[in-house]
Amino acid sequence: MGTRAVCLGFPRIGRNRELKRALEAHWAGRSPAGALAQTAAALRRDAWRTMHAAGLDRVPCNDFSFYDHVLDTALLLGAVPTRYRAGTEPLAPYFAMARGHQSDGGPDLPALEMTKWFDTNYHYLVPELDAGQTFRLDATKILAEIDEAQALGIDASPVVLGPVTFLRLAKAAGGHPGEGTLHLLPALVPVYAELLALLASRGVAWVQLDEPALVLDLDATWRRKAGQALARLAAGVRPRVVLATYFGDLGEQLPIALAAGFDAVHLDLVTAPEQLDAALDVLPPATALSLGVVDGRNVWRTDLDRAHAVVHRVVRRLGAARVEVAPSCSLLHVPMDLDLEPGLDAQLSTWLAFAVQKLDEVRALADAATTPAPVSAAFEAARAALAARRASDRTHDPAVRRRLASVDETMLARAEPFLARAKRHETRFRLPLLPTTTIGSFPQTSAVRAARADWRAGRLDDDGYREHLRTETRRCVERQESLGLDVLVHGEFERPDMVEYFGERLAGFAHTRHGWVQSYGSRCVKPPILWGDVSRPAPMTVEWSTYAQRLTALPLKGMLTGPVTILQWSFVRDDQARSTTCRQIALALRDEVADLEAAGLAMIQIDEPALREGLPLRRADWPAYLRWAVDAFRLATAGAHPDTQIHTHMCYAEFGDVLEAIAAMDADVISIETSRSAMALLDDFARFRYPNAVGPGVYDIHSPRVPTTHDVEVLLDRALRVVPSERLWVNPDCGLKTRAWPEVEAALARMVEAARRVRSRIVTERVRAGLKRAPARRDRA
Ligand code: GLN
Ligand code: ZN
Repeated sequence: MGTRAVCLGFPRIGRNRELKRALEAHWAGRSPAGALAQTAAALRRDAWRTMHAAGLDRVPCNDFSFYDHVLDTALLLGAVPTRYRAGTEPLAPYFAMARGHQSDGGPDLPALEMTKWFDTNYHYLVPELDAGQTFRLDATKILAEIDEAQALGIDASPVVLGPVTFLRLAKAAGGHPGEGTLHLLPALVPVYAELLALLASRGVAWVQLDEPALVLDLDATWRRKAGQALARLAAGVRPRVVLATYFGDLGEQLPIALAAGFDAVHLDLVTAPEQLDAALDVLPPATALSLGVVDGRNVWRTDLDRAHAVVHRVVRRLGAARVEVAPSCSLLHVPMDLDLEPGLDAQLSTWLAFAVQKLDEVRALADAATTPAPVSAAFEAARAALAARRASDRTHDPAVRRRLASVDETMLARAEPFLARAKRHETRFRLPLLPTTTIGSFPQTSAVRAARADWRAGRLDDDGYREHLRTETRRCVERQESLGLDVLVHGEFERPDMVEYFGERLAGFAHTRHGWVQSYGSRCVKPPILWGDVSRPAPMTVEWSTYAQRLTALPLKGMLTGPVTILQWSFVRDDQARSTTCRQIALALRDEVADLEAAGLAMIQIDEPALREGLPLRRADWPAYLRWAVDAFRLATAGAHPDTQIHTHMCYAEFGDVLEAIAAMDADVISIETSRSAMALLDDFARFRYPNAVGPGVYDIHSPRVPTTHDVEVLLDRALRVVPSERLWVNPDCGLKTRAWPEVEAALARMVEAARRVRSRIVTERVRAGLKRAPARRDRA
């Protein structure tokens, strides 16, 4: 038997984001569950046929999801919190967990917490477990997908998120992911054993058990218990199992992964090539290795010769039958098909490979596994493309390189410290206590999207489009004024996406038309491809910011996306250090800050929602990353005059462990997501004593649920226990572009009202305290 070509998971959103459309129509009540199910089935069929046609020896199933595969796993294991169990539609509890649920007179349910899937830009829902959680197998979804694939003549291998990773990603109610969940492992393992036995009884040949948590820092107890659990599963009645690890180095967990006794272990050799030799040294004789040599997270064409050298070496050592070739991880994180991009730069196209093309690379590598010097067309094409890319002068801009070389320390620090700047801002802005603001974007309604589509298709000319954007911006400013917000934004109607917009205006980026990847649920992003040196040919945001500022006497924030976020949410060139690329972006943004300032914008926000997600998975690698990431932000912002108030925004994650770095960024104000994790972050702020101003998000914009004024007041009171009132801002926890105007206006009105109430309470208390103190002072005199 030859070397197998396998795939760990395929994009599930559809070539044209069919899943997104079907989900949103269903949620809006425009289409019944049956229509959604049909779209889903068609997408799965398409994925299986594509993989089958590429000649893969193992095709996954159950990698599809209506919203999130971690949420699917919670359902598979019967871990649905009681409060979500109501509802008549079969998918009702599922979507309630995913999105929250609000109905007149019915239950009012916030969604589950959502956070980053490892160090990717995919977000999973954090399963919530009771201390005495019990589990019960519900394999309906898996069995249905196996049958569906079978009906197409394909023996699909279910992908199952393993018990260790499930518990590591889940949380106890009120806790953090991975805390207080390990004791549930003994209760969980029998359910997995039951599942494996069931799949064996159905004649399933292979199961892919995903345990990416094994590449994280695990303490000795986790490691020991994980090892025991995996060994127990391996020893039971089961199909063949490939234990899939990805996103990093197994490190101390290498022995338990390899010794568990499964039929194969998958290693991510793109992120962590160095672990291969260690693995080969201790690999048990009956275990096969799945070599993740094709990058599942980036869009570059694989250097087939280099990958082949690895595969060939392992094949010589283990024999062809004990080797599999695979992408490094699921292809969920790359766009579907390069063939959908005829408009891309022709030369750049030849340097790229999307999901469909990666399947061919995997096949070509598996076919050539035993050949010392492959000569196939696939190899020839890869060689030619790579040689051209290496020799190209289109990726190098001497002016950018010269400027980068001239950056020095003084460019990284603002001219005055925070307290001095804060005094200036107090006189300059005269803001009330607890100023209210928003994060930047306002609803991108169907009208906004239709106008953009018309303009892109040439049905609307530049002037017509600009006029439309002006109207939207003007209305948005008016609405903010009548809501009583203190600091305004222009609304970001001209930006389909906070990274794409800048990518389109910076040199060094290319853009796809259909290169969507799932971010969470129905939300997709289309990361630009950063392939050359970055520079800014012209101002990027000045027109819209100044237009909006001229409409109001209130301060309005200029709005930029930060260097780390632009880097993190792009497909980045792999031929130089990420830190170098990031600095290039920072220099371009520094010029934009200067231009905004010169145009009269007194507040500038530079969003860095992705700063934390860029953290390496292993703590040992954190300091180096944080140093260059924080420096890049400072390089972008520190040129601002002390009179200018620099804001930043972060979201989607736990920040407790990077507060020091956040403080080192030295933004005057940070708005930060907290509400979905019930302001747990504030405890961290209390411990750390964050020195500058902060606006902890007071309601969750990821859910259509409108908070009550009381909800917001409670959160503000909690915030006031750890943040002095002079440094507390009031804002939602993220941009509002995905929401609809009615819910946005309702929510902001309540937010403003809550801020007013708390503000007037503070003032009253101060007056009272002042009255009490005043006589005391006279007494002393
Ligand atoms: N300013 C951006 C917005 O409001 C920030 C988005 C984000 O943090 N992801 O949309
Ligand atoms: Zn945000």
